[in-house]
Amino acid sequence: MFDIDHSLTETERAAIARAGDFATAYVAPRAQAWQDAYEFPRQALVDACAAGLADLELSTAHGGQGLGFIAKLRAFEAIARQDMAFSFSLINHHNSMTRIARDAKGDVRDLIAAMRQGEIIGCTALTEPGAGSDFAAIKTTAQKDGDGWILNGSKAWITNAAVAGAVICYAQTEPGSGWRGIAAFLVRDERAGFVREAPFRFHGGSAIGAGGFRLENYRAKADEMLQPPGAGFKAAMAGINGARTYVAGMCCAMLDAGIETAARYATQRRIFGQPVLEHQGQRWALADSATDLEAARLLTDKAASIVQQGGDAVLAAAHCKKFAVRVALKGLADCIQLMGAEGLKNTHVLGRHLTNAKLCAFTDGSTEIQNERIGRFLMEKFSE
Ligand SMILES: Cc1cc2nc3c(=O)[nH]c(=O)nc-3n(C[C@H](O)[C@H](O)[C@H](O)COP(=O)(O)OP(=O)(O)OC[C@H]3O[C@@H](n4cnc5c(N)ncnc54)[C@H](O)[C@@H]3O)c2cc1C
Repeated sequence: MFDIDHSLTETERAAIARAGDFATAYVAPRAQAWQDAYEFPRQALVDACAAGLADLELSTAHGGQGLGFIAKLRAFEAIARQDMAFSFSLINHHNSMTRIARDAKGDVRDLIAAMRQGEIIGCTALTEPGAGSDFAAIKTTAQKDGDGWILNGSKAWITNAAVAGAVICYAQTEPGSGWRGIAAFLVRDERAGFVREAPFRFHGGSAIGAGGFRLENYRAKADEMLQPPGAGFKAAMAGINGARTYVAGMCCAMLDAGIETAARYATQRRIFGQPVLEHQGQRWALADSATDLEAARLLTDKAASIVQQGGDAVLAAAHCKKFAVRVALKGLADCIQLMGAEGLKNTHVLGRHLTNAKLCAFTDGSTEIQNERIGRFLMEKFSE
């Protein structure tokens, strides 16, 4: 049997259980209020850090727990089951910290210690107002200045930008050179030249804190270059397969919660003298969502297994993200339908999960970009 969970250690299982407890006791009762108030739950990130959820993959050398990718996947699935937006914010903080610790040339011990406690929040900034899917087209520039760099440009749609103090920022060092010129820098919000913009207001996902910032003659020190030109683009692309996989896992978690909510309601609610699920059409719709969920889980677990082993997960990650987003969108809408108007109430998670599943169609590469990966693979495989 294909079961990636058998590889989890006792420590990893305990961390996943902690994430589940935090999600149920802390996130679930607050998530809708965050959404209704368009509120970025800054304190919740601190509390999640205190619960030991922000440094799962951070190496033990940096004070982290050094757990594997599958443990991280399961932990953040458990949180996404209650609120994908908060889960996504926390995992972006987690990943930014892990990468800064891994790639920094200078001494970042104090910074990592502050990030582990949630005093400083991290984010990773690729997207710009003029470049999303076409990452190689970014216009933020990094110009050599003595032994440092001067950065200028704008970033948009960056998770945690509402509050982030430590940014992994991608910039072009040689305009016109495409991906070969892209490098990654550690950028700090406290320094002159960093101008935060108001976070975006959009449907769903307030806890993601997505927004933007401008860099106006921002000076980065030499040792703040995290990835040199060319390697920056490759590092971003390497990390994105893991991200696509956990976004797929979050979609599975949301659909799973939706199916449970709808099934519980529809076994009680009676229409025309019978529980809703005694009507075959409704029962079959729910069964279809359950089958889709099974398939999405298998694709996701396959990708997770490859990511954990350090293999080439490009194709597996593209398949699972595309499919999991699609079935979550359809399945969550079908679950609402099954419950009648009741399913729309914000006392249930369905509407929030449905909107957040739509966010997942864009984060870490849109559905069309996944299709590009899959389509290109087919062309290469079958071209003469
Ligand atoms: C909630 C949220 C959080 C995010 N967090 C981050 C973050 O932390 N850091 C970060 O850097 N970015 C982040 N993003 C940005 C995200 O990565 C982009 O939204 C995504 O890359 C798509 O870019 P775009 O929205 O600019 O769409 P565009 O690139 O403008 O694309 C427009 C449309 O064209 C489609 N398209 C693209 N390429 C092709 C093609 N070759 N053929 C056909 N159609 C195509 C797209 O799929 C889309 O439907 C976030 C986005 C959201 C919604």
